[in-house]
Amino acid sequence: MSTFFIWIISTGALLGVGLALAYRRSDLATSTIIMGFALLAYTMFGFGHWLIILLFWALFAGMVSLNLPEFRRTNISAPMLKIYRTMVPNLSDTEREALEAGTVWWDGELFTGLPDWSVLTSLPPAQLTDEEQAFLDGPTQQLCEMLNDWEITHQLADMPKPVWDFIREHRFFAMIIPKQYGGLEFSALAVSAILARISGRSAVASSTIGVPNSLGPAELLLHYGTEEQKERYLPGLASGDEIPCFALTAPRAGSDASAIPDTGIICKGEFNGEQITGIRLNWDKRYITLAPIATVLGLAFKLYDPDHLIGDKEEYGITAALIPTDTSGVEIGRRHFPLNIPFQNGPTRGHDVFIPVDYIIGGPERAGQGWRMLVEQLAAGRSVVLPSNAMGASQAAVYAAGAYTRIRKQFNLPICKFEGVAEVLARMAGNTYIQNAAVSVTNTTLSRGEKPSVPSAILKYHCTELGRKVSNDAMDVHGGKGIMLGPSNYLARNYQALPIAITVEGANILTRSLIIFGQGAVRCHPFVLKEMQAAKNSDYEQGLRDFDESLFSHIGYAISNASRSFFKAVTHAKFSAVPVSGPTARYYQHINRYSAAFALAADMSMLVLGGELKRKESLSARLGDVFSSIYLASMVLKHYENQGRPDEDLPLVAWSCRTLLYHAQEQFHGFLRNFPNRPVAAFLRLLIFPRGRMYSAPSDSLGLEIVDLITHPTEARERLCSLAYLVREPGNPLGTLQTALEMADEVAPLEEKLRDAVRSEVVTGLQVTEQIESARESGILDDAEAQQLIEFDELVMSLIAVDDFSASELAASHNSDGARAT
Ligand SMILES: Cc1cc2nc3c(=O)[nH]c(=O)nc-3n(C[C@H](O)[C@H](O)[C@H](O)COP(=O)(O)OP(=O)(O)OC[C@H]3O[C@@H](n4cnc5c(N)ncnc54)[C@H](O)[C@@H]3O)c2cc1C
Repeated sequence: MSTFFIWIISTGALLGVGLALAYRRSDLATSTIIMGFALLAYTMFGFGHWLIILLFWALFAGMVSLNLPEFRRTNISAPMLKIYRTMVPNLSDTEREALEAGTVWWDGELFTGLPDWSVLTSLPPAQLTDEEQAFLDGPTQQLCEMLNDWEITHQLADMPKPVWDFIREHRFFAMIIPKQYGGLEFSALAVSAILARISGRSAVASSTIGVPNSLGPAELLLHYGTEEQKERYLPGLASGDEIPCFALTAPRAGSDASAIPDTGIICKGEFNGEQITGIRLNWDKRYITLAPIATVLGLAFKLYDPDHLIGDKEEYGITAALIPTDTSGVEIGRRHFPLNIPFQNGPTRGHDVFIPVDYIIGGPERAGQGWRMLVEQLAAGRSVVLPSNAMGASQAAVYAAGAYTRIRKQFNLPICKFEGVAEVLARMAGNTYIQNAAVSVTNTTLSRGEKPSVPSAILKYHCTELGRKVSNDAMDVHGGKGIMLGPSNYLARNYQALPIAITVEGANILTRSLIIFGQGAVRCHPFVLKEMQAAKNSDYEQGLRDFDESLFSHIGYAISNASRSFFKAVTHAKFSAVPVSGPTARYYQHINRYSAAFALAADMSMLVLGGELKRKESLSARLGDVFSSIYLASMVLKHYENQGRPDEDLPLVAWSCRTLLYHAQEQFHGFLRNFPNRPVAAFLRLLIFPRGRMYSAPSDSLGLEIVDLITHPTEARERLCSLAYLVREPGNPLGTLQTALEMADEVAPLEEKLRDAVRSEVVTGLQVTEQIESARESGILDDAEAQQLIEFDELVMSLIAVDDFSASELAASHNSDGARAT
């Protein structure tokens, strides 16, 4: 063997040892010892030029010096800290509180680039308690039966009194309130299941019930209220005697809610005939759900104390108070009209309203903590109400579309048989499966005490976006049937409702652009928050020690992710260790690969762009998409395990994972194409896509397998839509569609017989009914068969029917002269 060849091999081996140590994340001391021995061997047997050997030894000397803490701190970390301090943005209390809110769970693992799958696999399957299940099967079903969406949305523009009474009586408003106050004390999982079922039936009902069970007075009181406040309000909120709302949004402050102009000034005043220290409030809020009927108004405003009546400060910042709506000067009652989904929503105003200081939630000690309260509670709450409502609507839409496209014929075939329609159906089912997985697994962890803020934002954004896609698709495959409004339309109201879920609790564009990656980068990253805290530490020595520790762990982690990303990309993730074997194992491996690549790209972006990354929203959004995709894919895999790995569901799992991982790949590509520093982008591309973009989206044949599942009465169809309201009763189109679907399978051979007879002109008649009669007369069908076909035809006609109205019925009963713009 030539000396040159030996040199190539030995240099490759030396670098390979280094890469392997980085890949395995060996600690610095171990890596130094192993590299020392490797370098010794290289020097003795590697035939390298002495200059190269010297260079390697110089690098090794640098590596050794990193093991000397005092030397490292003084000569490397201290100068780095000086520079870092100038780079770290000065976070306002508000921003810091938002970033630090909630907990880190599986999302933190994905951010490391080396996820410990046991964190996810050890989570028990989603399971309701007996009491929760009984509520889902009992009062929730009864409520669904009572809901007549057309009556609510068109005739009354409100829920009828018996429905309101039923909701109050069965404590639907009190699902998160503890039993000691008269509430139901249900888990997040139960709340999401109940809301999902209701939402497929009536968006007005699910929104109305969702609000008191999400961020609002009850939630805030439970976490921050004084005992006296809890005793005063919670029993009434539980019984439904008190109706809550929470008012943050103002005409000038929507997404930038921390900029609200509403004020509260601490001053002396008269209240109930007594001179007290209180707050004089002025506010102008809009879009407030339940405001028109609220008895207790949660209000966010900025608090000022110019005369120092409650403390040293003059400006306290955002503060939250609870105000009975019968307090003098509180103005509520008028209604907005949100997209034909007339749940109670409207403006509220107050001019010089005087309230005692102990109306502040948590009392005067909590003055100025309003923003913190809101972001802390939103951290977890965002994954419950809106994602569940979107998921419930999707389940109902898929269940309906699967049956409808099977019974609706064009060109003599059920429309689901056409590939164009099939593609849409497969997408609907896959997108619903993703939502089911995300909601059920994430809310199980919530029920066990986690408050994962980044997954909550992912669920809020992606479930509502997927819900919108499913809803759009459902409308398309229904054609005109979906468009004609009326009592027979079971799709359009949810189609109209989805933009509401997209807009509230952090509008989606902002959630994608600023929150998912922005919050994740600080909250889930193993070192960034620690480095920021160290840089801000007023005790310099302690700050330096902490910074040094985090910085060097961070550098090791970045080198490791570069090595892992490259190796997994070259091997197409084939050798990655995963917790399962079988058909889903490859998806786990690809998640491992993208986790490493994502961690690498996140680090490089922060290093190269620093604070500028916050303004580069499109880049931040794409990184957020990559992260969301691997998070959602891991939810899909866990959900499949939780459901007992049913073979029948494999096409759904494969479609979902493929779609998500393909999306991760494409968003990475978009990120790299647009990364402003081109050399860094090229370097990242080499480490992330050394073999190009090799991952493919789901195949057409996979889509057809899914269509088979949802256009026949299969168990997979039932599992996918298990939270929809499926009772077979005259008022429930989903039940009737299922009956028709089952009949479609039974009558298929008879229809075939009839079609053949028509084709060979044995049977005559232009109308189907005439042809059936003719086939009966000519003995092609017996009486029972003919009867079965007639019944099926009648059922199909009733299901494809749409409503019509007289001109006067369509005209609004009142004109809109009373409307005023707010
Ligand atoms: C039906 C309904 C019910 C509601 N209920 C309540 C309630 O009970 N209580 C309450 O306080 N509020 C409520 N809201 C208010 C809701 O939270 C706000 O509508 C929401 O915060 C967005 O504010 P905005 O509508 O003023 O939109 P804007 O803030 O004007 O935003 C418009 C668009 O710009 C995007 N955008 C803004 N800033 C950025 C940015 N930096 N980066 C990227 N995109 C950005 C947004 O994502 C959005 O798409 C409700 C709203 C609706 C529609």
